[in-house]
Formats: sequence, C-alpha cells, structure tokens
Amino acid sequence: MPSDIPDSLRRLVIDRAGNRCEYCLLPQSVAFHDHEPDHIVPKQHGGITEESNLALACMRCNRYKGPNVGSYDPSTGKLVPFFNPRIHDWSDHFKLKGAIIQPITAEARVTIRILRLNEQDRVAERRSLIDAGLYGQLLS
Ligand SMILES: [Zn+2]
Repeated sequence: MPSDIPDSLRRLVIDRAGNRCEYCLLPQSVAFHDHEPDHIVPKQHGGITEESNLALACMRCNRYKGPNVGSYDPSTGKLVPFFNPRIHDWSDHFKLKGAIIQPITAEARVTIRILRLNEQDRVAERRSLIDAGLYGQLLS
C-alpha cells in the first residue's frame, strides 16, 4: 500500500498497537514483512488518514482486508462490519483456543473469515510462536 502517512502518525499507530497486528496479534518482531498502518475504513469508502481510522496490520491481514469493510455473517446471513480495533477490545470479540483464533461475536466471525486468520500456515506459525513464548493476547 502506498504510504501517505506521516512518520509521526505511523509511529503513534505502531506504539499504540504494541508493535503487533491488531487483528491477528502477530508481533512485528517475528514478521517477515513490515506491519503497516491499515485504514480501518478504506479511503475509497471515505475513510480518512487519522489516528482514529488507523490500525496496525500485518501484511496478510492488510492484503486480505483490502477495500472491504465487512461481510455477511456465515451464521446469520446478515451484513456485519469488521472488528474495529479503535472501538472494540480484541478479547471481547476473539479468544484463542490453542493456536486457533475463535470468534465470540458476529464482527469476529466475518473478520476471521475475510482476513483468513486461521489459514493453515498462519495457525502453524502461531503454534510455533506460542511454543516459543512469543505470541499471546496478554503479550505486549
Ligand atoms: Zn495480522
């Protein structure tokens, strides 16, 4: 994603997120590609470049999220917005079962599906990070 984000704002987003992806919680320190500030509401939907509309996202969450703002909840068929790290608490919406990120809410269900949080190799990576003590929702 081309960067139109000033360094000071980028730094704020990284620090606020504890330097890990705000969707899948992958720490930047173990990621091959740099995490990026993600427009929670993408610019093409009118989202603006300011701290209230930015979240730190790993490359994969960012790519899979793309220009989407939500999806149809597989459980109800209703259109549901994604988990929003600026207004939601991760642990109110998701829980870890081993290395699998499980949904608690409809927002989490659509986020897990579209951002492919439980893709096989991502779960395998998460499992090895957990084993190494490098991943967990209480880590900062
Ligand atoms: Zn991620």
